[in-house]
Amino acid sequence: MTTSTSEAARSSRQAPTVVPDRDCPLCPRLVTFREANRTREPSWHNAPVAPFGDVKARLLIVGLAPGMQGANRTGRPFTGDYAGDLLYATLIEYGFAKGTYQARPDDGLKLVDCRIANAVHCVPPQNKPLPAEINTCRRFLAANLETMPNLRAIVALGRIAHDTVLKPLGLKGAQAPFGHGAVHQASAFKLYDSYHCSRYNTNTGVLTPDMFRGVFAKVKADLD
Ligand code: SF4
Repeated sequence: MTTSTSEAARSSRQAPTVVPDRDCPLCPRLVTFREANRTREPSWHNAPVAPFGDVKARLLIVGLAPGMQGANRTGRPFTGDYAGDLLYATLIEYGFAKGTYQARPDDGLKLVDCRIANAVHCVPPQNKPLPAEINTCRRFLAANLETMPNLRAIVALGRIAHDTVLKPLGLKGAQAPFGHGAVHQASAFKLYDSYHCSRYNTNTGVLTPDMFRGVFAKVKADLD
């Protein structure tokens, strides 16, 4: 192996893979579900959903998994379902997004100093990933954290997102229990917890728009 070839090999070993392959084979149950969705809805995205936003952002928002009619259909995180309506309205209000959210990936909405990823990159049946799937897909989220040089704040939407980022951040669950509005320090980063902005949580009053705004107001104040 020549020097340049071995350097290339070393650098490719070190480069974390942030975006799973369109046909990522690692979770058999989700692969079967993906194939069935491709047959049923051939015009939909029906593949792992890549993060949205600049890697140079200081804020990373972590959701659970693509929604069937949302990101799994449109290919952009939180785009096309109710959770996106509340999330993007809140991001625009606090200056983390600009433009007009129109629930389409070509609506021109831009994230500002903000990136959005999911703990699990493929849509799971009934929106419920299995623990093994969460563990398997964590490598891509961990790679995201590694490739964001300016990262300072992470907002975890829901307990699964919270639990998924603990390990890459070097935190144990007992040190950083999940709770809406909780803020945990992890070396140079702060982890902010929020209930997930799902329709179920807002319809049942578990999460109100004001509670959700409160989390982003805190992030904004800390970053400014
Ligand atoms: S959930 Fe993640 S690890 Fe599993 S198949 Fe999809 S992209 Fe691959």
